[in-house]
Amino acid sequence: MAFKVAIVGRPNVGKSTLFNRLVGRRIALVDDTPGVTRDRRVHPARLQDLRFDVIDTAGFEDAAAATLEGRMRAQTESAIAEADLVLFMIDGRAGLMPDDRRFAEVVRRTSKPVVLVVNKADVRSAANGVLEAWNLGIGEPIGISAEHGTGLPDLRDAIAAIMEGHGTGEEEPAAPELLPEAAMPGDDIDPDAEDIGYDPTKPIRVAVVGRPNAGKSTLINTLLGEERMLTGPEAGITRDSISVDWSWRGRDIKLFDTAGMRRKAKVQEKLERLSVADTLRAIRFAEIVIVVFDATMPFEKQDLQIADLIIREGRAPVIAFNKWDLIENRQETLAELREKTERLLPQARGLKAVPVSAETGKGLDRLMDAALETHEVWNRRIPTGPLNRWLERASAQHPPPAVAGRRLKVKYISQIKTRPPGFVVSCSRPESMPQSYVRYLTNGLREAFDIHGVPIRLALRASE
Ligand code: GDP
Ligand code: GDP
Repeated sequence: MAFKVAIVGRPNVGKSTLFNRLVGRRIALVDDTPGVTRDRRVHPARLQDLRFDVIDTAGFEDAAAATLEGRMRAQTESAIAEADLVLFMIDGRAGLMPDDRRFAEVVRRTSKPVVLVVNKADVRSAANGVLEAWNLGIGEPIGISAEHGTGLPDLRDAIAAIMEGHGTGEEEPAAPELLPEAAMPGDDIDPDAEDIGYDPTKPIRVAVVGRPNAGKSTLINTLLGEERMLTGPEAGITRDSISVDWSWRGRDIKLFDTAGMRRKAKVQEKLERLSVADTLRAIRFAEIVIVVFDATMPFEKQDLQIADLIIREGRAPVIAFNKWDLIENRQETLAELREKTERLLPQARGLKAVPVSAETGKGLDRLMDAALETHEVWNRRIPTGPLNRWLERASAQHPPPAVAGRRLKVKYISQIKTRPPGFVVSCSRPESMPQSYVRYLTNGLREAFDIHGVPIRLALRASE
């Protein structure tokens, strides 16, 4: 069966423009046969070498209620239900609008893979839109121009990566179709609103995530110093509340209780299915996420998926290599595990990885210190003066390449957000700037300003 893609988003972001580009011809939006309800239409599409079907969501809009709310539900939910992949589109020129956030809520609740597309990237102000889009918590935004066709190779790669995983028989962690609707702490966080400087009196939100049996419950029990949760293979039946207020070395901390959310799951199968959603909830709740690895079997596929998810969501991970009491060659093993961390998780280079024993409590001091340090870096703001002096040096040392006979120029840099740090570099012809140069700048920023262990966002903007 063909792979189906739905393009969703509020009106006017450019869905039809992309649809038409992918399908390659104008599709009549109105059926002139009376009495025929065409509430779903699927059209063969191509993007470079990829072949798939696109669901025409305009059909859903026609059929739905008159209110935006109604159209949104009908359009988005039915299209999502049918799709194998959801392209969620926002308008980079307009920036994030309240309606985008409402769509994002619906999109976030699905277990289907979602690619976040920021359209109208041909417009200069769209670079800000791309950075803002990170705040939706849907992963890495891809800037495109549906009208002019730029950015489509990146979109192609994102879609291809998902198509590859699809139908290859590779087992994805099962997840419920829709996450529970109930309001959770963290739902109300508006990352933009929080970006008004660093407030050391506010509790730090910390979540503990990891594979089943890595030792999360044990770790939380030991941290909190009391038997608040059941541990062991029958894990599941525990707490009432979602977060625990706590303090560490005088800092208030809100600890997210993953296990507490599983309490209603009775059957093993259901437990497993819920935990994927739980992990995502926990990550979105948190500022700092402690990922518990079982040091006796580290870097399993699921460990890396979780760490990657944390980084994509813009949170800062701290790794706890747990069950260290069972490790024999400690020094050697630690060096090896840290080397692997750097190699396998380069998106948050320098991330802190601390050996601990949740059972004995050993190493937990250092783990919490690492979490607080990482939180500081995640909130760091670098003044514009030093940033630009650095950019001048970095671009002199290794200038951007020439494209089509003209050298690209980088001109100016500023930090436009924190949590995690986000920068805009203005340059000539940003659409031609190779990814390798963006990586060079990102890595340079990391080294120069000691931004270790957290994701860095960097967007390009066309200069005058
Ligand atoms: P839809 O309501 O989401 O289907 O949006 P449309 O595809 O109808 O596009 C809305 C408006 O945005 C139209 O005026 C398009 O010409 C314009 N538009 C679409 N894509 C782009 C783009 O990549 N760049 C710019 N500048 N405008 C675009
Ligand atoms: P969770 O599923 O991640 O919450 O894992 P649990 O906290 O329930 O722990 C799973 C199993 O690992 C239990 O049998 C724990 O006793 C054991 N465990 C947890 N932490 C440690 C540790 O530091 N050392 C050792 N040896 N065993 C541990």
